[in-house]
Amino acid sequence: MSYARNLRCRECGRSYPLEPAHVCEFCFGPLEVFYDYQAMRREVSRQSLAAGPPSIWRYAPLLPADPASAVDIGTGFTPLLRAPNLGRLLGLNRLYVKNDCVNPTWSFKDRVVSVAAAKAREFEFDTLACASTGNLANSVAAHAAKGGLKAFVFIPADLEQGKVIGSAVYGPTLVAVDGSYDEVNRLCSELSDKYPWAFVNITVRPYYAEGSKTLAYEVCEQLGWRAPDHCIVPMASGSLFTKIYKGIKELAWLGVIDWRETRMTGVQALGCSPIVEAWERQSFSIRPQKPNTIAKSLAIGNPADGYYALKTLAQSGGNGLAVTDDEVVEGIRLLAETEGIFAETAGGVVVAGLKRLAEGGRLDPDELIVAFITGAGLKTQEAVQERLAPPLVAKASIASFEEALSQRQGALPAARK
Ligand SMILES: *Cc1c(COP(=O)(O)O)cnc(C)c1O
Ligand SMILES: [Zn+2]
Repeated sequence: MSYARNLRCRECGRSYPLEPAHVCEFCFGPLEVFYDYQAMRREVSRQSLAAGPPSIWRYAPLLPADPASAVDIGTGFTPLLRAPNLGRLLGLNRLYVKNDCVNPTWSFKDRVVSVAAAKAREFEFDTLACASTGNLANSVAAHAAKGGLKAFVFIPADLEQGKVIGSAVYGPTLVAVDGSYDEVNRLCSELSDKYPWAFVNITVRPYYAEGSKTLAYEVCEQLGWRAPDHCIVPMASGSLFTKIYKGIKELAWLGVIDWRETRMTGVQALGCSPIVEAWERQSFSIRPQKPNTIAKSLAIGNPADGYYALKTLAQSGGNGLAVTDDEVVEGIRLLAETEGIFAETAGGVVVAGLKRLAEGGRLDPDELIVAFITGAGLKTQEAVQERLAPPLVAKASIASFEEALSQRQGALPAARK
């Protein structure tokens, strides 16, 4: 059973029924799902949550959708791994990685789309749609396929091959728009007025956004029901960043975890860092940017939740920082070479931000840090392709192999005695 009671305007507080709506009719503020936390508190406990299925739907009472309407492709309950090798390198004793690369379409976007698709079914839409920086496109197309819904998926034309193919394979109507994500998004806003489609990040955005909270719930449960001291999170629209914090606060309100002052650090790529740029100016007003970075999944120049991300940064005592594309590539390699996880560019952004903070002496070696790795590297091979050593080339003989190896590294390794 869901405890969602209404939608509320984040600016003026007006309430609306639980319908497909996303902006306040009076002040144009964004709408957010509001729950009956008193009732929820009576029913929800560590035991009741832990008894649920090994997917995001174990947290159904804290979500706005009925699991019976779910399009279930197996989203969530991804591993939280200790990262001792990367931790040793950076002087951090309690570093963890939340590996959301292993979701069904290989990014955290399956969390938000699972909730949005369930809601779209409840509202009796027959078509899912989205404006995407890449990962959302993959996830919407997959959920539509599984749920027997039609799909219209809009992407900027310059996306990585892995993300284009990773959408097309599910058979949606895939539209590559000649323009930036912000232009794709504007087009989709106009289309959502004209066509009765569930644009997951427009028409049903308040429900969609709630899906990100499941990352916080899982991490707290996987830590043995406690919140991290410090979360390192990538920011595009800023929605994920704010919802992880909301998820932690909710569990504390419900008495499922003890409240602690979790710091929220948000990282962007320097070539598209409107939230961090405002943070550095100590301003709450975002100046839109024209993106120019290899971190395409984060390339939103006019972030819808930027203002709320800035509030979360300020409230939680976190840091906003922006890293160069070279640092992003180095971050991808560092995570792969130390912990065996191949992340996409957004993961490189997070690891680069973590490294900067550690090397700048801005982290306590004993704080419990979780780095959120939100998407898989096979989708953004272009980012590292040119920077990796090519394979040794050899004929199928020992002599040829040894010749190639000694050319690359001088001496041969010790042979069997
Ligand atoms: C979309 C995305 C994000 C951030 O999403 P927002 O909620 O818009 O800030 C982070 N990482 C990856 C891999 C994404 O695809
Ligand atoms: Zn309002």
